[in-house]
Amino acid sequence: MPALILVSETRAPELLDEFGRYARDYDLRTATSVSDAEQVAASIREAGGQVAMFVSESQLPDASVLEAFARWRTVVPTARRLIAAHWSRFLSDAPTLRAGLAKGKYDAYLLMPRGVRDEEFHTAVCELLSDWGSTVAAPEVVTVRIVSPVTDALTLSIRDYLDRMGLPNRVYAPDTEVGREVLAALEGEPEFPVVEAMDRLPTSPRSVRDVAMRIYGQPADIDLDTVVDVAIVGAGPAGLAAAVYASSEGLTTVVLEAEAVGGQAGTSSMIRNYLGFPRGISGMRLAQRARNQAIRFGTRFFSGWPVTHLEPGVDGAPHVLRTEGGDVRARSVVVSAGVKYRRLQVPGVDRLVGLGVFYGSAMTAAREMEGYDVVVVGGGNSAGQAAIHLARFADSVTILVRRPDLESTMSAYLVGEIAYNPRITVQTCSEVVEVGGEGRLEWITVRNTAAGGETRRACSGLFLLLGAEPHCDWLPDSVARDARGFVLTGRDVPPARWRNELPPGSLETTLPGVFAAGDIRSGSMKRVAAASGEGASVVPLVHAWLSEV
Ligand SMILES: Cc1cc2nc3c(=O)[nH]c(=O)nc-3n(C[C@H](O)[C@H](O)[C@H](O)COP(=O)(O)OP(=O)(O)OC[C@H]3O[C@@H](n4cnc5c(N)ncnc54)[C@H](O)[C@@H]3O)c2cc1C
Repeated sequence: MPALILVSETRAPELLDEFGRYARDYDLRTATSVSDAEQVAASIREAGGQVAMFVSESQLPDASVLEAFARWRTVVPTARRLIAAHWSRFLSDAPTLRAGLAKGKYDAYLLMPRGVRDEEFHTAVCELLSDWGSTVAAPEVVTVRIVSPVTDALTLSIRDYLDRMGLPNRVYAPDTEVGREVLAALEGEPEFPVVEAMDRLPTSPRSVRDVAMRIYGQPADIDLDTVVDVAIVGAGPAGLAAAVYASSEGLTTVVLEAEAVGGQAGTSSMIRNYLGFPRGISGMRLAQRARNQAIRFGTRFFSGWPVTHLEPGVDGAPHVLRTEGGDVRARSVVVSAGVKYRRLQVPGVDRLVGLGVFYGSAMTAAREMEGYDVVVVGGGNSAGQAAIHLARFADSVTILVRRPDLESTMSAYLVGEIAYNPRITVQTCSEVVEVGGEGRLEWITVRNTAAGGETRRACSGLFLLLGAEPHCDWLPDSVARDARGFVLTGRDVPPARWRNELPPGSLETTLPGVFAAGDIRSGSMKRVAAASGEGASVVPLVHAWLSEV
């Protein structure tokens, strides 16, 4: 059982009593000092166990609690860190400790309950534990069982998709008990990986899409004659918000998503600045909640199906969205397809994608980095978050940036958190010029852009977060875009493309009945809250358009 280590010099019994409700699922251990807790954690690790969380009093006898978290992190980087402060110390401790919280030195600051059944307190504890549970390599509650003798690129991509869809999964070797059970139910010869999803018969998928189709179906499942009120392309925050608002207001709504629901936000390990989530929320969880909310109102989701073409409807006829799994006919379309990462154009990189080289923060791959030295390329917030997440698993994380500093491109809170994290180093004025390895990434060559000169270094994980460009190669020319390819809406559209000398509505494109929201829109703010705000704001415009046609 994973352990919760409860640390207090004098109040350990009180903590033990309060956390007694977790005794069935967690091994409750107590410690009376920083070094005592360090030893408890080390002995659990040596015995092959896991530590899910440190819960600490706000004052400890042998070091400050912030120093304690830093020391414990060295022993167990993945454990969540919670201060359960005694309320008598609130006024004296809170100002310093809250400053540490803002810098990410620990995960939550709570006051110990002053009576029984303080469910607010325990909701926070459960959220942290659930968050921890979603980052462990071998979850105990499993919805999808994968059987494979090796962790190859396909298995990793399937796991990444399942993680982002919030489906707990685990890989079993063919000669284990579970492996044999799954293979016995398979019809025909196994081609690995074999996947058994949600108690359906196992199959041998050849792509992530095969898995997505098995679980969620395909657009062709929609009746051919159906014309939906609104089809939303892309299920990031903008598309999800549009889906919730459109379907809650009675519009028939279909969402087509190329990959997993959540978009870029879904790949973020922790979104800390989204309104209403004081302890932050993982992007996957936010996305899954929004998806469930939209489903409750009747939205249909098809994930794993990129829209390959938008065929404009003429004279009020429905627009047609084409995918390889069937077409969707819609009276209106919301384009919320976001952006994709720029590719690294250096020798050797393409054949190693998925084999040590990853675009984005690649949440599942991060777990495989335990014990490795990894490199994150990029100086934006997404690179900073990826580095912090990776440092939970990898021995060391190096952030490589071309610029001479991080401050000009990354939020101050992340720069501070990175400076504080002993596992992360920042290497400025540097760029990757070549990567290589036999069958998997083994080394990279880095050029110093200021002093010149190239160095080859060993590297087992290369995470590329190089900025983004819009996902709009599928849009027809009648949807006007700016010079960088972002979709133009409202008054940003040049007058030459206005209709009847009037600009389109604020989130409307140059193609009537087609709207754009979120990062794909020219001039958008590139934040979760802004994208979801635009997704919600587009719905009144859709209503107005529908009443017109
Ligand atoms: C790692 C990371 C961390 C971040 N952290 C934060 C943060 O802490 N706070 C914050 O405010 N912002 C954060 N951001 C930025 C934020 O995630 C984005 O601004 C936001 O996700 C944009 O939402 P969107 O819906 O416009 O587009 P996206 O999130 O990009 O979603 C677009 C979706 O459209 C799909 N799609 C693309 N093309 C097609 C097609 N042809 N057919 C069907 N589907 C398609 C994509 O697969 C994707 O799922 C982060 C971004 C990253 C990458």
